[in-house]
Order: sequence, then C-alpha cells, then structure tokens
Amino acid sequence: MASPSLPESFAAWQRAPGYSFTAAAGPLPAEVASEVAAACRPGPGSLLGLPFTSPTFRALQAETEACLRRLLAIPDRFRVLFLAGGASAQFAALPLNLLGEGGWAVYLDSGHWARRAIAEARRHGPVTVLPAAAPALPPGPPPAYVHLTSNETADGLRYPELPDLPAPLAADMTSDLLTRPIAWQRVGVAYAATQKLIGTPGLTLVVVREDLLGRARPPTPRVLDYRAQAEADSRLSTPPVLPIFVAHRMLHWLEARGGVAGVSRRLAERSAHLEAALAAGTGLYRRLGAPSLRSPVNPCFHLSDEGLTEAFLAAAEAAGLRDLRGHPQTGGVRVSLYPGLAEEAVAALAAFLRAFPRCTHRVRAG
Ligand code: PMP
Repeated sequence: MASPSLPESFAAWQRAPGYSFTAAAGPLPAEVASEVAAACRPGPGSLLGLPFTSPTFRALQAETEACLRRLLAIPDRFRVLFLAGGASAQFAALPLNLLGEGGWAVYLDSGHWARRAIAEARRHGPVTVLPAAAPALPPGPPPAYVHLTSNETADGLRYPELPDLPAPLAADMTSDLLTRPIAWQRVGVAYAATQKLIGTPGLTLVVVREDLLGRARPPTPRVLDYRAQAEADSRLSTPPVLPIFVAHRMLHWLEARGGVAGVSRRLAERSAHLEAALAAGTGLYRRLGAPSLRSPVNPCFHLSDEGLTEAFLAAAEAAGLRDLRGHPQTGGVRVSLYPGLAEEAVAALAAFLRAFPRCTHRVRAG
C-alpha cells in the first residue's frame, strides 16, 4: 500500500497492468530491480546511506567501470567519467572542454536530439551544422570535433555505423550505448545518460580520449571539466551513488547474457518480430525513413490513416500496452526496445499489432 502522502497518480501508475514502452526510461529486468530494492533496504547497511568516500563505493565504481570497459572493449587511452547532470549537461560540456580558444565544431543534424545539442553548443562557440547523410567537412583545418547523435530517440533513426571523418567524433549514445560495438578509432568522446539502457536517471557515462583532457576554457565549471573530473576519479562532487549501483548490476546482468553481442542479437530479433507484425498490418501501418536508417531501438511508425492514431493508442492502452505515443514533435507511434524490456512485452505488442487491423472496421464504424 502506497503512503497516503504520495500522489494518487503514483499509486495508479504502480497498479497499472501490462507493459510500458516509454522512450524516457528503460525498465529494469526483474532480477536487477529486486537486487536494487534489496540494497535499498531500511536501516544500517542500506545503499541509500552509502558514503561516496568509502572504499566500498570506490570498489563499486571501479567494478562498474571495469565491466563497461570489458563490454565495449574500451581502449586504455580513454578515461571513463561518472557524471551527473544528464546528457544535456554534456551538450554544454563538449564545447567548453574541446573548443579551446578560437576552435569550432561541426554538428550533424539527424533530428530532435542533435538539434538540442546544436542549440546548446551555439551558446558556447562557433558551430557549423551539416546534414547527417553523407557529411563532407569543409576544406581547410579540421574542426575540434564532429558531434553526432548515434540514435535519434525521438525520430526513430540510427546511424548504420559511425562515420569515418578527419576529426574526432563526439557521440551522444544515450539511446544506443551497448547495442553494438564501437569503432573507438573514430571517437574522441562517447557519452550516454544511463536512464534508458543501463538503469536509472542521474548518471551520465562519459568516455573521453585522454589526449583531449586539459583543454577546457578557464571559465568552465569544474564539475564539467573533464580533466578535473578525471583527476578526481569523478568524485569532485558527490557522485550519483544509487544510479552507479544500478549500472553495476545492469552491466553485469548484460555481461552474463552475452554482452554487447547478446544485446545486439536480441534487439535484432525483437525488432524483426515487430517489423513482421507491422508488415502484416494490411497497409494500416506506415514506416518512415530508409530501412537502413530505421532505429531498431526506437522503431517509430504512423497509422496510414492518421485519424486512427488515437484509437490505436487507446486500444493499446486498454490492452495494457502503455506509453506508445510518438514524440510530440514527430507524432505517430513509438516503441522503445531497451534491453531490460521483458520478452513477453514484445510478444504482446506484436500480437496487438497483428490484431488491431481487424478491429479498425469497428473503430471506423464507431
Ligand atoms: N540525447 C538523447 C539521444 C536522448 O534520447 C536524450 C533524452 N531522451 C537526451 C540526449 C537528453 O538526456 P537527459 O535528459 O539525460 O539530459
């Protein structure tokens, strides 16, 4: 029974049956969620009271980093930072750390989140925006970095691979870290907030090439300064202890299930399952974008009769398939297939996609 002081909407949210496909937060697998709940037990020894200054926390952080390094084969020349402030703080940290005096950056415009990064970067330095497809850098000295959003969570688009450009990439991997191997030789900085793939909000992982440290402009806030954070082992201020614990458990859970190869295989199977159900939808579902650019993590689609979108979402909700509404700027329907999502959720959604076209006569008649 929820405490009476909690909002009623929270209790209702907790009681809601079925599955959430929200893009905003990935579900924790049941085993991981139980471990987190057990670690947060009341009283002494609770994770919620673990001091970040303790050797225990340091060991937790070190093991989390080691597991991430194993999973992604991160070369020794990169440092791993555990930062707060979300991926959006990195939109500012990147130009502050990497542009130096008189530097400029290229940003590839692939969609909503790329544009959010561009808007923030423009506040801090000169930015040239190029289209995401086949970007060609202007002649002359290369930019300090090229920013891209490897998976566009709102638009449902993903780079088939990281582009090979004559400048280090700064890649926002918030919605696809760990879903495929990373070509580190192309990367200067890779960063990802952890709330979608690796746990809970509050932690952003920043993997930065060592030679890019120490270039921050003098007014850069120290908590955003990559070298200052690297020198302090990311403990310049109190690190997000709970999300780091969750990441520790989640990364080890993924490692036990085949690591990045396992995530990638399951994702391909799940998205193929959904694609088959969409294709069987007798033309009711419309996919946008070239097939090679469609994100398997956040597949988006529209009802070919847009007027049926609300009926689709209501029927899905009634069937316990929640949070399928597309991003407000994109409309339509969006599914999020983060690694913690239960197998049954995907099966239930695929069955619903196949069944819905049969109901549309009734919907239209009603
Ligand atoms: N980049 C991408 C690709 C995202 O999907 C999001 C959040 N949906 C962000 C950045 C922003 O992350 P945060 O809310 O942690 O700042």
